[in-house]
Amino acid sequence: MRRTPALIVGGGLAGAATAIRLARAGLPHLLVERSRETGDAICGGFLSWRTLETLAGLGIDPDTLNPERVTRARIFAGSRRAEAALPHPAVSVTRHRLDTVLLAEAERLGTPVERGVTVREIAATSARLADGATIAADALFLASGKHDVRGMARPDDARGADPTLGIRVRIAPSPALSKSLAGGIELHLFDRGYAGLAMQEDGAANLCMAVHRSRLQAAGSPAQLLEALGREMPALGEWVVLIDPSAQIDAIANVPYGWRQRTGADALFRLGDQAGVIPSLAGEGMGIALASGVSAARAYENGGPAAAASWQEDFARRLARPIGIASIVRHIAESERAAWLLPFLRPTLIQVIANATRLGQS
Ligand SMILES: Cc1cc2nc3c(=O)[nH]c(=O)nc-3n(C[C@H](O)[C@H](O)[C@H](O)COP(=O)(O)OP(=O)(O)OC[C@H]3O[C@@H](n4cnc5c(N)ncnc54)[C@H](O)[C@@H]3O)c2cc1C
Repeated sequence: MRRTPALIVGGGLAGAATAIRLARAGLPHLLVERSRETGDAICGGFLSWRTLETLAGLGIDPDTLNPERVTRARIFAGSRRAEAALPHPAVSVTRHRLDTVLLAEAERLGTPVERGVTVREIAATSARLADGATIAADALFLASGKHDVRGMARPDDARGADPTLGIRVRIAPSPALSKSLAGGIELHLFDRGYAGLAMQEDGAANLCMAVHRSRLQAAGSPAQLLEALGREMPALGEWVVLIDPSAQIDAIANVPYGWRQRTGADALFRLGDQAGVIPSLAGEGMGIALASGVSAARAYENGGPAAAASWQEDFARRLARPIGIASIVRHIAESERAAWLLPFLRPTLIQVIANATRLGQS
């Protein structure tokens, strides 16, 4: 059996942020990541101003991700629309780029990264790997994101009676995209879901949706759902017609929006989506993942494995407001009331909501 003082499970955002902090503090640790190559996770790719601050603290210059800034949001529901300046500039980036930059920074600082290593089960702070080996740790940082690990799974009822899926398709660069989307993001609200659209650093647009299973089932398939939404909402339809029929449509099932880990456990730090899942409409999940890694590593640096339980409870309290407000907004946004309420959504109110769904500073 191998041993390490600190084992990080998952080399996504939360795992990489933890590793960067531990490496900077000179604390021995090991990061295991199941994928051999960095993929392009299903995500809207919207980095809020708060997330950019956290990235800056980790030594990541936003210009290395995308030199363009997102400064405006356009919101569509039915035939109505609203528009507002964002409270501060944001950035839109592919997850492939962001995840690559973060993990490379951790490795540069000395983090040992073992790729192609899948943790199958966790008992206390010991991880059993897919090849049958075990790694025992004094402290375990669980950063496996959307994927649950046996022994640490989030409760089934966190997904709700009509669970939500994430669906993503990319739209190839074109002059129409560049002209309409430069500097802005679009949110298209519809019955039981929403779609977000933004241009990313490679000039392609990322069309990412969160949609309830019943809505997808009614349409048939993700491609049929896109077609149906395009017919229903002309503003979205303009983009749907640009999707290459052979483009890959990625999907992830059962996203437990609104769930938070409220109780702590000895020597176990649950990070990122394993600590809490904010509705993606808010564009703050990545910021939460990064901030959880930073603050958990700081707690470990100051108090060792014994700091885990109180850190987890404190982090759950920090998540309460942004997740609570984002859940209410999501509930309204995916109902029929959205189109009716949109004309009353003044730019200042959009800015208030945008700020209130950020994670507060620790
Ligand atoms: C549809 C959708 C749109 C979104 N849009 C946005 C947005 O625009 N802005 C925003 O801020 N947030 C957004 N989010 C949220 C954001 O994607 C997540 O909150 C964030 O990725 C969580 O980071 P993480 O580090 O917890 O997990 P991840 O980034 O998912 O990383 C987990 C890592 O762990 C690895 N792993 C998993 N299981 C194992 C295992 N058993 N053993 C070893 N390694 C393992 C994975 O391979 C992965 O690399 C969106 C989410 C969805 C679903």
